[in-house]
Amino acid sequence: RWFGDTEVDPTEKTERVQGVFSSVARRYDLMNDLMSGGVHRLWKAQLIAAIRPHPGETLLDVAGGTGDIAFRFLDRAGVDSTGRGARAIICDLTEGMVAVGRDRAIDRGRIGPILHMVGNAESLPVADRSVDVYTISFGLRNVTRIDDALREARRVLKPGGRFFCLEFSKVVLPGFDRAYDLYSRTVIPRMGKVVAKDEDSYRYLVESIRRFPDQPSLAERIEAAGLERVRWTNLSAGIAAIHTGWRI
Ligand code: SAM
Repeated sequence: RWFGDTEVDPTEKTERVQGVFSSVARRYDLMNDLMSGGVHRLWKAQLIAAIRPHPGETLLDVAGGTGDIAFRFLDRAGVDSTGRGARAIICDLTEGMVAVGRDRAIDRGRIGPILHMVGNAESLPVADRSVDVYTISFGLRNVTRIDDALREARRVLKPGGRFFCLEFSKVVLPGFDRAYDLYSRTVIPRMGKVVAKDEDSYRYLVESIRRFPDQPSLAERIEAAGLERVRWTNLSAGIAAIHTGWRI
């Protein structure tokens, strides 16, 4: 057993998470599509619709990985009448993921408005009150000290800034939860073995989903970190959820 918060000491968990994402970085985007049947794209589209990005805004996408949220944010924000667009900062723990994200940004001609950095959600290398929108998409469950990360989110948001967390959550349809559980325990590690040649990493992913707090418990922790007007929306019957909050 190598991934539980209780069995493994915190530094060790962070190192292991980094190991998992270093080893899957090159295959990460493909695996996302295969495992979710492409549904992660719809969820991300819903996240962007909830954000309603505008030109002139600065996004901080924590655990931003290969850049999915930043690209969508910038595309949706567009430019204003003076030609000014939005900006995005991607901060991720794993250098390999940031490197893939940088290559993708170059391929898309998006390197200008994106700042890439390697850093930990628990102690962000970002100034106080400096961003309009904070996002963390399929990232928070990998963070060792979730409450520290949430406090950091509040710290870097400007007053009036908004927090968004897209994460796997708890299925709310009776019956469906068991089918989903079976799928994640059997199909996902096998797919990881065949496609990414890395069964263990995908076992870690499934286990991290199972251990993550459910919708109301996460909402309480977001509030405890000082964010306000916290709400959530379930996606696909609670397989995932978007939690939102404000720094007032
Ligand atoms: N946000 C992307 C998406 O939605 O596709 C990537 C999500 S990927 C499942 C999780 C990412 O979290 C990995 O890139 C990993 O390196 C990053 N990560 C894990 N722990 C982190 C931490 N403590 N601080 C910042 N990033 C972290």
